[in-house]
Amino acid sequence: MEVPSPCDGIRLASGRATDRLNRGRQDPAVSPSDRQVALVTGGSRGIGRAIAVQLARDGFDVALCYRQAAEAAAETAERIRGLGHRVFHGTCDVSELDDVQRFIKAAEEDLGELALAVNCAGIVKDNPLVLMDQGAWKDVLGTNLDGVFNVCRTVVFGFLKRRRGGIVNISSVAGVYGNATQTNYCAAKAGIIGFSKALAKEVGPYGVRVNVVAPGFITTQMTEGLGPKVAERLMPSIALRRLGEAAEVADLVSFLASNRAAYITGQVIQVDGGITL
Ligand code: NAD
Repeated sequence: MEVPSPCDGIRLASGRATDRLNRGRQDPAVSPSDRQVALVTGGSRGIGRAIAVQLARDGFDVALCYRQAAEAAAETAERIRGLGHRVFHGTCDVSELDDVQRFIKAAEEDLGELALAVNCAGIVKDNPLVLMDQGAWKDVLGTNLDGVFNVCRTVVFGFLKRRRGGIVNISSVAGVYGNATQTNYCAAKAGIIGFSKALAKEVGPYGVRVNVVAPGFITTQMTEGLGPKVAERLMPSIALRRLGEAAEVADLVSFLASNRAAYITGQVIQVDGGITL
């Protein structure tokens, strides 16, 4: 029997796939050959680092890429090794398809086939639109949105073929509600949401799930630049009256990647302390 496919030209044998994504997770009896591999882009620091480390705790071997900060990446890698997991790390510019293909090929040769991709790489280049140059627009769209396409395009056929795989894309509440001075960032983060919903519909019949996590203000190097005054101004609009921690975003990604979320796909889930209520 074959499952009807929304994907032109792809015909795959049927089988129960959803149960397989997290086969063996958190099971100390699992042998290294049964381990699954997760890719985390932007995994060197901040939210990406917290996700990479949490996924290792959950039982994944981890491939992580980043643009700069090799030292931070080495530290993340060390933490993952400390948890008894294998790690592959290196630079890769997610805005370049060739670079993404090269990195994923090398990661899979080293660790094995990917079962999960978390797109977390992101940048900001804020300015009111009247002052925003085309470079700031292109750079932010290139990393934050093209990057998601490049990674998903590279991994998705393998996921479909193996009838196994999950994707979690990191958007932002700014992509849901908009934020002045961030037209480029909001366009990219809103684009991720539309992209992910469409992809969830395409690949769902193969047991592959795609979800979006939209953080509010999280304490990382990205938000450090905003300074204490901005955080102070924001506080009254955050129901929980504090900024979030990267680990709190990682917990949600961990859940979405697990079988506990086996019936959740195409969703946008906010981790924002109630900033948007
Ligand atoms: P960060 O600046 O601390 O880390 C960003 C990571 O992305 C780094 O590892 C960096 O090397 C990597 N990166 C940047 N450009 C890249 C490229 N072209 N190719 C590959 N890697 C690249 O930022 P963060 O605060 O940890 O943010 C992580 C993600 O979460 C981003 O997508 C960001 O938009 C999103 N987010 C953050 C917040 C927040 O408050 N910090 C809120 C909402 C969404």
